Amino acid sequence: MKTYRIATIPGDGIGQEVIPAGAEVLKALAAAAGSFAFSFENFGWGGDWYRQHGVMMPADGLDALRHQDAILFGSAGDPHIPDHITLWGLRLKICQGFDQYANVRPTRILPGIQTPLKNCRVQDLDWVIVRENSEGEYAGVGGRAHQGHPIEVATDVSIMTRAGVDRIIRYAFKLAQGRPRKHLTVVTKSNAQRHAMVMWDEIAASVALDFPDVHWDKELVDAMTVRMVNRPASIDTVVATNLHADILSDLAAALAGSLGIAPTGNIDPERRYPSMFEPIHGSAFDIMGQGVANPVGTFWSCVMLLQHLGEDAAAARLMAAVEAVTADPALHTRDLGGQATTAQVTAAVCKRLAH
Ligand code: ATP
Repeated sequence: MKTYRIATIPGDGIGQEVIPAGAEVLKALAAAAGSFAFSFENFGWGGDWYRQHGVMMPADGLDALRHQDAILFGSAGDPHIPDHITLWGLRLKICQGFDQYANVRPTRILPGIQTPLKNCRVQDLDWVIVRENSEGEYAGVGGRAHQGHPIEVATDVSIMTRAGVDRIIRYAFKLAQGRPRKHLTVVTKSNAQRHAMVMWDEIAASVALDFPDVHWDKELVDAMTVRMVNRPASIDTVVATNLHADILSDLAAALAGSLGIAPTGNIDPERRYPSMFEPIHGSAFDIMGQGVANPVGTFWSCVMLLQHLGEDAAAARLMAAVEAVTADPALHTRDLGGQATTAQVTAAVCKRLAH
């Protein structure tokens, strides 16, 4: 029987509540399926680790993860540590160290969940947003000079490489090709950013030639926000830069009902390294320790993890169990207007899996 090695990194805040819930659900799934197993290794990195060691993760942390089959990640963020330290010291270190260049964010309105959009039918909102995850606006290139003086200067330079743009656009076309509608929207801002984004558009047009069966269009990022709200059914698969997709996918999560539901995968498509799956929400310190965090974003991330491992039947089984649970308003957590706890939602999903 195949045993998958999964690294769990709960991180900070509600990550410490939803990741154990995710591991519990994966164990219940493996027990029910009977054809594979999981071996979990937990890593206590994050804000508390930083307070003890001065770093968010050990210097040889990537080596401890390298041979895992996948990583399940919670969140990094601490009210007493600057955000750029928590982000760059843990999550981005893993994403960049393992060249997880495709950040994939599916969005759907799950059964029982209300969208804030008027006149939007469930079938109108079924998107996958592909975010460039290795360069662009978050390449980390820049600096500060004259710090603290009136003439201080600071730069964050967006880096776009032909290889980096080509590989993410190619990944998005391939993904769109595998979806029923075979439609891709390439998000751009080449009207205002006249160098890198023009290259982005040119590369999109040339990669498109290799995917003649995929319909594609181009949208400016500002117009894309309007289209997501006014014409959700016109969208299927989307590809955008690191910054643009970061913003668009939070909007997508809100339109699908709650930040607490949305999943994401940081994928190394070439499978040289483990890929990492996580709910898109952050550490949510306002609700931590209360047992009310919505674990659905983590469960859906587990579905993506299973798909990545090639366990498609098990992935479908877990998604069906999650959807059966979201369909029941008595099992909605506070972010969805309900009273249910993390433990109750987790137990309900595990019970469904046992059937
Ligand atoms: P970070 O700084 O780590 O990104 P944050 O607290 O600023 O975290 P999020 O955690 O992404 O931002 O979410 C914003 C708010 O949405 C939270 O403060 C919380 O109230 C709510 N929220 C997010 N995720 C969940 C969840 N899984 N369950 C319930 N509420 C959630």
